[in-house]
Amino acid sequence: MKQFMTSLKVILFGFIIISLTLLTGIIFQQNKSQKLLLESSNENKHALAFRYSDAGTIYSREMTKLAYSENQQRKYSENPEVARSFVQIIGDYTHNIGNTIEAAYQDRLIGSGRPWHRQLVLDFTGKGMSGDDIALTISSELNLAAQNSLAGSAGSVVILNYETGEILCAVSTPNTYPENVVAWQNIPTSALFNRSFNSEYSPGSTFKVVTGTAWSKSNTYDPNYAMTCTGREPLLGPGSVFENRTGGSHGYINMQGAYEISCNHFFGDVGLKASFDNMEETAEEFGFNKEIRLGKLYAKTGEYQAVEDEYLLTWQAIGQPIDTNELSTSTLHLAMLGGAIANDGVMMQPYLINHFIDPSGNDYDYTEKEVFSEISSQADVSSIKNDLISTVNQGMASNASIYGYSVGGKTGTAESVNDTGELQVNSLYTGFIDDPQFPYAIGIVVENGHFDTPSIASNLLSLAMQIN
Ligand SMILES: [Zn+2]
Repeated sequence: MKQFMTSLKVILFGFIIISLTLLTGIIFQQNKSQKLLLESSNENKHALAFRYSDAGTIYSREMTKLAYSENQQRKYSENPEVARSFVQIIGDYTHNIGNTIEAAYQDRLIGSGRPWHRQLVLDFTGKGMSGDDIALTISSELNLAAQNSLAGSAGSVVILNYETGEILCAVSTPNTYPENVVAWQNIPTSALFNRSFNSEYSPGSTFKVVTGTAWSKSNTYDPNYAMTCTGREPLLGPGSVFENRTGGSHGYINMQGAYEISCNHFFGDVGLKASFDNMEETAEEFGFNKEIRLGKLYAKTGEYQAVEDEYLLTWQAIGQPIDTNELSTSTLHLAMLGGAIANDGVMMQPYLINHFIDPSGNDYDYTEKEVFSEISSQADVSSIKNDLISTVNQGMASNASIYGYSVGGKTGTAESVNDTGELQVNSLYTGFIDDPQFPYAIGIVVENGHFDTPSIASNLLSLAMQIN
């Protein structure tokens, strides 16, 4: 009996050794094959096409195929207009556009870079060399509608869920078809630039959301404060903010009224009351001067540096930069801004990958929600939220209303330098639905003209509510 047990131990020990050798061998082989795959490419188009010949699928929110490999070929959405609406996010297999899913997640799509224990199980089932699929949070239906709503203008739209941070829609125009990117032809100027994530627009009056919040944190804050708007007469004298409108002054006005009609005097005044440091601190609580990581992709928020000059601060307080770099925002950031107000001062980390799917069909690696930034609890965010709702109910953003729902928002118009270095006027919007079932926020920029961005917001958010 004793001898039998000893033999059994020897057999068991031998078995463990053999298993370990097998494991090591498989891991070694897997690493070697991945390395060979990467080396064989040498970054030329033919090799890249070969590399992606059996790569994983990229799915939209509706699980429609945005990129997939079939008959050894990499293909993009069957609907060319959907493909176009995603081009700066999906990219293409030649990696002609960086900062895209195809480029940044190449390893996952061709079957490397997944967690080792998952790789091991797949190797044992003979599926280790196949790539993962990627399920995005972005809806192809919403993207298509947003692209149509820009109606040929340059601009961008981002919709997100402000409670989770999921990006539901992100479109940037002009854009082009993936086939043009692969062939490197017929690409309109700036069509590969992702305005949704990396633009730097002057925020204009959308920035009054930050100014009002900063003031609400200061010890000069009084929710009943009112002052007299003096129209074209500058607030502090020549060089300070004034009302650039022909209709005279706004008269005696409080914060709610000032949001509704976008009074420059009021926000110049309370910006001064808020103080330089508090303005900058609050802007940073709203995510200014921070980089956003969208998994392996990157995006911009905005930039704000307080200028220690009272006259200039009155301009910054209404969202007009003194210098091109001192005050800017991206379209994604505009959506995050409205979302943070709706979400009681909590700005969620945005994301666009919902999860991965391994070659055995297992969903894994779900993105978990996390906080990106928080507005100080001293701020009266609920007042600002109510003011933005009344801006839609009875103010300048009334076209953003959605029947039966509480909607808030703020418009902005601002001059920015365009692709060719010329000054142009852009129309901006930040807004949200105040509803626990539909916690959606939107950021819109339409370049070069005065556009009805609140109507675009109403249409797209209504559609988002149907898609869910
Ligand atoms: Zn005014």
